[in-house]
Formats: sequence, C-alpha cells, structure tokens
Amino acid sequence: MEILLYIAITVLTFSFMELVTWFTHKYIMHGFLWYLHEDHHQPKYPHVFEKNDAFFIIFAIPSIALFYFGAVPKLNFMFFIGLGIFFYGIAYFLIHDVLIHQRFKWFKNIKNKYLIGLRKAHKVHHKHLDKEDGECFGMLWVPKKFHKQFKA
Ligand SMILES: [Zn+2]
Ligand SMILES: [Zn+2]
Ligand SMILES: [Zn+2]
Repeated sequence: MEILLYIAITVLTFSFMELVTWFTHKYIMHGFLWYLHEDHHQPKYPHVFEKNDAFFIIFAIPSIALFYFGAVPKLNFMFFIGLGIFFYGIAYFLIHDVLIHQRFKWFKNIKNKYLIGLRKAHKVHHKHLDKEDGECFGMLWVPKKFHKQFKA
C-alpha cells in the first residue's frame, strides 16, 4: 500500500508546484528577481538561453536534494516530493518553453482546447512588457474563460 501513498505524494507535490510557480512568478520573478525574468518579457529573445532559464536551476536544487535524501540511507517519502517537482519542471518546460514559446518546433499543430487555453492565457501575460500590472501568472491552471474562447 505504500506505493499508493508515494503516488499521492508525487501528485500532490505536482499540484502544489503550480501554486509555488504562481507565487514565485508573481512576487519573485516580477519582484526582486525581475532582472532575471526581464529578458523573457521582451518580444524577441536574441539568445538561445535566456537569463530566465536560471529559474530551472533554482528549482532543480531542492529537487536534487530531495532525490538524495529520499534515497539515502533508504527510499522514503522525500524522494517522491522530489519526483513531483521534477515532473512539474518537465511539464512546465514542455508547455511554457516548447508549446507556447516554440523554442523547439515540436508541437506546432496543437488542437487541444485546454492547451490552447494555456497558450492564450500566457500570451496575455506577455502583453505586459514590464514588471508591474501583470496577469495570468499560473501555467497549468488558468481561468476558465481562456479555454472557452476557443472551439477545438
Ligand atoms: Zn512574467
Ligand atoms: Zn513566457
Ligand atoms: Zn509580465
């Protein structure tokens, strides 16, 4: 039965990361670490890497630590918290960096209503080129109106 608990921890961590991301994006990236996020709000990114990518490293550190302490001396719940963060990082990258910003041309013809809604919401976020007055700071959960605007 332990396996069910571990799956639950992973799923809960994944969901909780959406909250953490929203909070980090709104109050930290658009706050005192704006200098790292600013280039991401410019219409054209001149480089392969953005300063904004630093946030992947920032979130990878607790995840790696949790993998370590969750596996040593023996497997425990911390490993699955690390796994939830890791899966969220992958989902975030695939949706935000690939699907929305097309850093890789992988999914060009998405017709899924939910995914199109996410893209629409994030484009609204990017209408603001500056630090203040942002909206739509979440990534995988956005207000329903964005999904409704589109017919699949
Ligand atoms: Zn932003
Ligand atoms: Zn973006
Ligand atoms: Zn913004």
